[in-house]
Order: sequence, then structure tokens, then C-alpha cells
Amino acid sequence: MADPQAVLEAAFPLLSDRHDLAGKRVVLTSGGTHEPIDPVRFIANRSSGKMGRAIAMEALVRGADVTVVTGPVVTPLPHGAHVIEVETAVEMAEACVSLAQDADVFIGCAAVADYRVDKAGGQKRKRTGKGLTLNLVENPDILGLVGAVKQSGQVVVGFAAETRDLVKNAKTKVKKKHLDLILACTVGEAESGFGAPTLKGAFIDREGHVDKLPVLPKEELAEHLIDRVVALMR
Ligand code: C5P
Repeated sequence: MADPQAVLEAAFPLLSDRHDLAGKRVVLTSGGTHEPIDPVRFIANRSSGKMGRAIAMEALVRGADVTVVTGPVVTPLPHGAHVIEVETAVEMAEACVSLAQDADVFIGCAAVADYRVDKAGGQKRKRTGKGLTLNLVENPDILGLVGAVKQSGQVVVGFAAETRDLVKNAKTKVKKKHLDLILACTVGEAESGFGAPTLKGAFIDREGHVDKLPVLPKEELAEHLIDRVVALMR
């Protein structure tokens, strides 16, 4: 017998009466990236992949063809999604740039490392008895690259995970990355952040309209997000 979870996930889209993304291609980044220090260690972040999973599931239920480019996470992705596994931000960028060209919707949900170690060692670094300084260089801004070449009719959505100045920072990102919509979320709190089942935040659109949200389960937020994407496509 097929895995019961796979059966359940295959049934959801069939049982849904809202196929408003039928025939549309959704490309999504999810999880966090790992940036190697040497073959043994890496720099990572606290992303669980739960929000990405929720968005992928909702887009599938609404009839979309869904591709998820994911960093290493423990949360499994829905069985109906095409999954491309990557480790680093550079690998994620390489996968996304070509996939985004054919996407109707691109959603940058991943917590991409802003920096990587310049010249990560080929051998395990040894203790030297002295401190260790790592030279970090900037990673490509994947969402920024996709937003900069956004095609007409394409919808590009981003996330902003912030510990302060949520709306102000998110508004700057909407403009800088040429986004249609951003979901700004508070992180670092028990009920809102990486690994939590819920998030507190606000949607901000390209006109700067702010819609503050209460604490919501990630699945419910994903539903609101897809509702807004569908509205933007009209
Ligand atoms: O600039 P900041 O990292 O705060 O922006 C967050 C948004 O940009 C998220 O949607 C994230 O997925 C995306 N991002 C990206 N590539 C990066 C950094 C962030 O796609 N290097």
C-alpha cells in the first residue's frame, strides 16, 4: 500500500472545490541554506521548512503545478510537489533563476543565508590554539534577481522575518526586490518564528497597503497568501 500520508496529500486537491490555480506554475523556495565552513561544519539558521510546506500544500490543493527548491530541512514536503534539494544559497540561486522564467508565481519563502564562507576549507579545520576568523562574502539575493527580471503577468512574493521594525523593513524590501506582495513575520517569539506552528505578521502589497494579522497557524497563513496571489493574478 502507498504511504498513508501520500494518499491523504493526493486526495486533498481532488476533494477541493477551489481550483483557482489550475494550470499555473508555482515555484517556491523553502527551508534554510547551509553554508560550508569545511567538509564537516556549516553555517545555518533556524528555518524548519514548515511555512514552505504549508504554502506548497495550499498551492497543490488549489490546482497548481508546484516546484519547491528546498534547503536541508526535516519537515517533509507534500508528495505532489516537484522537489529540488539544494544545500547552499548559490545552488538555490542556480536552480531558481531558470525555473523562475517559466513560473506564473514565484514565492521566496526560504531563509537564505546572506553570507557564505569565502574559500571554505577542503579539509577539516584543526584547532590551532588561537582564535579563528572566517571571511564571509555576500550570497546572491535570489528573490531580488527574480524580481528584477519579473515578466508581465508574473506574481513575485517574498517574506520578511524580522525581530524589530517589521513593517518599515518589509516595505523597503517590497521596493528593493520589485515584489508584488510580502508577508512580514515576527521571529524570535514562542508563538511566532522559526519552528513554531504559528506566525504573527502582516501582508504588505506593492502599493504599500498594510494588513496586520493576528497569530495564525502557518496553514491558515498559506491559505490567505494564496488567496492574495490569485487576486493579484486577476
Ligand atoms: O533581505 P532579506 O533576507 O530580509 O529578504 C527576505 C526575502 O528575500 C525572503 O523572501 C527570502 O526568501 C529572500 N532572500 C533570497 N535570497 C537571499 C536573501 C533573501 O531570496 N540571499
